[in-house]
Amino acid sequence: MVHDRVRTLLLCGLVSTLVACTGGEPDEPRTEPGAASPGASGIGDPYYPDDGNGGYDATGYEVSVRYDPGTGRLDGDTTVTARATQDLSRFNLDLRGFTVSSVEVDGGPAEFTRESDTELVVTPADPVREGSTFATRVRYSGAPLDATSAQLGDNGWQRSPSGGAFVLGEPHSAAYWYPVNEHPRDKATFRLTARVPSEWTAVSIGRRESSRTADGWTTSTWVEPNPVASYLTTIAIDRFDVVRGTLADGTPVLSAYAPGANDLRDEGDRVGEIIDFLEGEFGEYPQATAGGIYLGADVGFSLETQGRPTYTRTADLETVVHELAHQWWGNTVSVRSWADICLNECLASYSQWLWAEDKEGDDLDARYRRAIDRFAGSAQFWGRKLYDMGPGHEFEGVYSKGILALHALRREIGEDAFGRLLREFPAQHRNGNASWPQFENHAEKLAGRQLDGFLDAWFRGTEQPPDEYLYPGSLRG
Ligand code: ZN
Repeated sequence: MVHDRVRTLLLCGLVSTLVACTGGEPDEPRTEPGAASPGASGIGDPYYPDDGNGGYDATGYEVSVRYDPGTGRLDGDTTVTARATQDLSRFNLDLRGFTVSSVEVDGGPAEFTRESDTELVVTPADPVREGSTFATRVRYSGAPLDATSAQLGDNGWQRSPSGGAFVLGEPHSAAYWYPVNEHPRDKATFRLTARVPSEWTAVSIGRRESSRTADGWTTSTWVEPNPVASYLTTIAIDRFDVVRGTLADGTPVLSAYAPGANDLRDEGDRVGEIIDFLEGEFGEYPQATAGGIYLGADVGFSLETQGRPTYTRTADLETVVHELAHQWWGNTVSVRSWADICLNECLASYSQWLWAEDKEGDDLDARYRRAIDRFAGSAQFWGRKLYDMGPGHEFEGVYSKGILALHALRREIGEDAFGRLLREFPAQHRNGNASWPQFENHAEKLAGRQLDGFLDAWFRGTEQPPDEYLYPGSLRG
C-alpha cells in the first residue's frame, strides 16, 4: 500500500504531462454505492463450506439470553460487532432455529431473510463500507433445536437430567443459541447476560461480573476478554453448586457442579495442580479464568470450553488434563481449518502421556512399543489420517494414533527441540490461529532439518510408518 502510493507520486512527478494524476485516487476505496457486494455465505473452509461467513471480521459478541427450563423457551438479543473487510451490500450470520423478530444495523432497521438451515441474511439500509466497524443487533426467540444425543462432532442444545440445559458442540454449537460467524478462524471477545428463573443457575465462560436476583429471575453477566472461537463458548443452566477460588497468580477459578456430578469434585479440586504442571510443559497459562462446568449428564465426552471446560459426568482425571491442555492447544491457538484438528487433539491427548510420565513415572517408550505391537497390522488404526482427514473424520485418529505420532516426533527431533516446540508454538500464536503445517514447519526449524519423510508417513499416511520413522532416536534397537 505504502509502496504503491510512493510509486504513484513518483510516476506523477515524472510523467505528469502524460498521465492525469489526481491526488491519491488510486489508493482510495471505491465509494459509489453500486460497488458494494454481498458477503460470502461461508468463511472459506472447504471442510464446511457454509460455516462462518465472508466480508467481515467479528470482533465482539454481546449475547443476552433469557431461558426458562420450565417452558424450554429462549429469548435472545445479541449484538455482533464486526469490521467490514469489503463494501457489503448484505452479509450473513449463522443461526440455527428460532424465529427472528428484528435485525438492526448501527441502530437502524435492516431487512433479513433465512436461507438453508444456518444462514441469516441481513441487508442493511445502506451498504457497510470496507474497514468500518458496524454493530448488528438480532432479536430472536423460540425453543432451541434439540440436539440431545447427536453424534460427536455436530451437537448443540441439550437438556440435562435435572431438567436444565446446556449447549455443547464441535464444530457446531454457538449458532444453536446466538447469531455468529461460526468458524474458529474468526475469533472475537464474548460477553453474556443470562437470565434464568431464580431456582436455576446459569454458568458460562469468562469472568462472572455480577449476579442479581429480582422478581424471581437471576441475571448474571460473563465476560471473556480473550478472543474465543465460537465453539468454545457455552451456557449451562442447572441447579449448580458454584465454588469460587483463585490460582496462585490470582486467576479467578469458578467450578460449577450439577447434581449428579459430585464424583467429579476430587478432579475439580486438582485444576490448579494440573495447570501448574501444564505451564511447565507449554508455558504460561494463556486464559483469563480457570475452573470447570461439571455436568450431571452423561454426554459421552467433554469439551474444552474456554477457561472453563465442560465435563460429562463420566470424565476422569485424564479428561481434566486433556481439556486443560486444550487451553493452549485449540483455544489460545485455534485451527485455521478443521483439517488442522491434530493441532488440538494430538497435543491435548499427548499431554495425558506427559502427565503419566511426570506424575506416575510411566515409561513412555515402553507404552509406545506396547501400542505399536497391539496395532501392528491394523488397517483401520493406521488408515486414519491425522492431517486433512476429510470432513466428518476429524476425530477418528487424533486421540490414538495422534499420541503415538507425537511421541515418535519427540524421539525424532530430541528432547530439547520438542520441549521448545511445545512452549514456543502456543506463545507465538497466542490469541490467534495456526495450521498443522505451520506446526510442522516450526518443528523443522527447531530440528534444524527437513522432516518431510517422517511427517508424511505419520500425519498424511494411511499405513504403518516404516521402521525408520516408527523407531527413531531412543526407540531404535
Ligand atoms: Zn480434545
